[in-house]
Amino acid sequence: MIIVSACLAGFNCRYDCTNAYDKLIAEMVINKKAFPVCPEQMGGLPTPRPSAEIKNGDGNDVLEEKARIITIYGDDITAKMIKGSEEVLKLVRMLGAKEAVLKEKSPSCGVTMVYRNGGIVSGMGVCAAMLKREGVEISPP
Ligand code: SF4
Repeated sequence: MIIVSACLAGFNCRYDCTNAYDKLIAEMVINKKAFPVCPEQMGGLPTPRPSAEIKNGDGNDVLEEKARIITIYGDDITAKMIKGSEEVLKLVRMLGAKEAVLKEKSPSCGVTMVYRNGGIVSGMGVCAAMLKREGVEISPP
């Protein structure tokens, strides 16, 4: 079983209630080859929600308490983002998942890129970083 970002499977779970539909990913879910997750919703954040980005680092820095995740309104949602990532990790362990295909540029799911100060920089989202530390092979679609 492969874990996938739910927005890639067509769920409208992005901050603005849209999705990032990817036909191949959706078909994997339909064929029970992949399990969709949204760490931000699983952490208790609402949809829609204000967009957010990692300040002063990436997901690894968040896990090491060197960086925080802040919304466009200045609210610190780091705790909920970490909680959602931990919920995904629980599911990974339950399913014995070894791979995850995650949406790029998200502060949760970004695999090689995240937004910072309105631009795109190299780095991982916090859920991606947590899964990688678990030994899960993560990749973008
Ligand atoms: S947290 Fe991940 S799954 Fe949820 S909307 Fe953002 S990129 Fe998609």
